[in-house]
Amino acid sequence: MRSEGSGYRGRLAPSPTGLLHLGHASTFRMAQRRAEAAGGVLLLRNEDVDPQRSKPEYVQAMVEDLAWLGIVWQPPMVSQSERLARYAKAFAQLVAGGWVYPCRCSRRDLARMMHAPHEELDDEPVYDGHCRPTQTATVLTLQAGLSYRLRVPDGERVVFVDGNWGPQEFTAGQDFGDFLVWRKDGLPSYQLACVVDDAAMGITEVVRGADLLKSTARQMLLQRALGLPGVAYFHTRLMVDEQGVRLAKRHDALALRTLRERGMTAAEVLRMLE
Ligand code: GLU
Ligand code: ZN
Repeated sequence: MRSEGSGYRGRLAPSPTGLLHLGHASTFRMAQRRAEAAGGVLLLRNEDVDPQRSKPEYVQAMVEDLAWLGIVWQPPMVSQSERLARYAKAFAQLVAGGWVYPCRCSRRDLARMMHAPHEELDDEPVYDGHCRPTQTATVLTLQAGLSYRLRVPDGERVVFVDGNWGPQEFTAGQDFGDFLVWRKDGLPSYQLACVVDDAAMGITEVVRGADLLKSTARQMLLQRALGLPGVAYFHTRLMVDEQGVRLAKRHDALALRTLRERGMTAAEVLRMLE
C-alpha cells in the first residue's frame, strides 16, 4: 500500500517566466520544511498558463534549480497549460452561479479609472466597477476579446489566520475589487487556475510569498463560489535588497543559476537565507 504520510500536501508553484531567484529559494525551502515537519508531501505545479510569457527553457531550468537546491517534490509535475478544460468548467460554474460579468474596458481605460496600487503589496488595482451590471446574470454568451470579472460581495470581510502572519482581514470592494477570472485572450486568470488546481491536487497548505496575502482573500471567495474546500495558508516574508527593493524585481542578478555559475554551492545559498 502506498502511504502518503500524514495527509499534509503542499505545493511549489513557480511561473516559468524567468529564472528562479533567491526569493523563490527562500519560499520553497520554507515549503519543504513545513511539509517535512508535517510528515507530508510537496507537489510541483508549473504555472505556465500564459503562453506569451512562459518559456519551456525556464521549466527545465526550474526543475534543475530545485534539484540543485535539494528541494524534493513528488512527481508528476502538473502543468497548467494542459488543464484548460478544468478551468473552463470552473468558469462555467461561476457563470451559472451568477458570479461573473463581462468587462469591456481596454487596458487604457483600466489604467485611467483605477487608482494605482498604493502599496507594493497591492498585486492588482481595485476595479471601480465600470462594467458591473446592476442585475446578476446566470447565462452569458462568451465573447472572444472580452474579459470576465467576479462580482465580489461588497463590504464582506474575508478573514483567515495565516500560519506566519496571524489573523488577516480584507474587505471585499475595498481592499480588492471585482477581479479577473477569465482573460481577454481566452485563458483563466491566475486566481481561478490557482484555486481549481489547489483543490484538484488535494493541497492542504499553501506556502507562498506575502505579496499574495490579498490574493488569498480573493481565492477564498472563489473557493466558496465553487464549493471547494478551504486550505491553510502560510505566507513567507518577501526578501528585499539593501535598498528595500524586492528581489523579484532584480531577477537575473540574484538568479540561482547566476550564483551557481559564480561558484556558490547550494549550501552557501541556503545559508544566505538564514
Ligand atoms: N506562480 C506564482 C508566482 O510564481 C505563485 C502562485 C502561488 O503560489 O499561488 O508568483
Ligand atoms: Zn470594465
